[in-house]
Amino acid sequence: MRFGYHVRMSGGPISALLEGIDAGCEAIQMFPGSPQRWGTPPVSDEQAVEFIEARSNSGIDPVLLHAIYLINMAAPSDSIFKRSVGSLASALAKADRLGATAVISHIGNHKGEGEEFGLKRIAEAVDSCLGHSTGDAMLLLETTAGAGTSIGNTFEQFGAVFDMAGRPERLGFCLDTCHIFAAGYDISTPAGVDDALDELDHYIGLDRLKALHLNDSRGECGSHLDRHEHIGQGMIGLESFRHMANHPALRGLPAIVELPYENRDKDSLDDLSLLRSLVEPQERSGEED
Ligand SMILES: [Zn+2]
Ligand SMILES: [Zn+2]
Repeated sequence: MRFGYHVRMSGGPISALLEGIDAGCEAIQMFPGSPQRWGTPPVSDEQAVEFIEARSNSGIDPVLLHAIYLINMAAPSDSIFKRSVGSLASALAKADRLGATAVISHIGNHKGEGEEFGLKRIAEAVDSCLGHSTGDAMLLLETTAGAGTSIGNTFEQFGAVFDMAGRPERLGFCLDTCHIFAAGYDISTPAGVDDALDELDHYIGLDRLKALHLNDSRGECGSHLDRHEHIGQGMIGLESFRHMANHPALRGLPAIVELPYENRDKDSLDDLSLLRSLVEPQERSGEED
């Protein structure tokens, strides 16, 4: 696994990279712009060159973009739907300019129109934004905690979206441990992790799993609460993260901790060091080739 943090872009893309280097990341995730605002600042040619050069020297790989929070691929409103597709397409273009491998997005909320409507709408959004971009960056759909009328809290729903969208090659999946636990997958034991991965494989395919968000959960299993906790300090617990960190199906994936880097507990191992300490020696050496 390649561990990293979600880092902030405080002054152009390079600032996020520098934060990632400072935090000892092997992979990073960042927003393409302000997560609460439509429209993202463009990346100049100079910024793109600077970023790509500095990244290759840093050894950080991959870089992932996390789409803004306003996106709703299941929106009943045509204007929100169009803005969401446009925002995803521009994030994909930005990813290509920066050499980022993927854009990760939550899928949204059907606002009372029902699951069937929502899933069809999302498949349409996937089709449209991948059709509008011709680069290499993948679109990864992320699991949600399943609050309110949000969709994307079961692997079965994602499987339906993948099938409806015709399973394009650039469509992938991002698993957030806190979100699936809150949605009702009890991954607080190694056996529970295996069951969840079996179900993921059945509906989506493990080959589509391209990124992990490793967050422990403050809320209980099935609580639908999206509250991230430091690794091993929440309801999922350290043994499940140890199991995931050494799981053959998850080997080689980027694994992002989505708690602010500055909130690390200074008196104990930070999340990345803790996760690395869980990886058994043969796993780390086997990763080198
Ligand atoms: Zn996440
Ligand atoms: Zn979350």
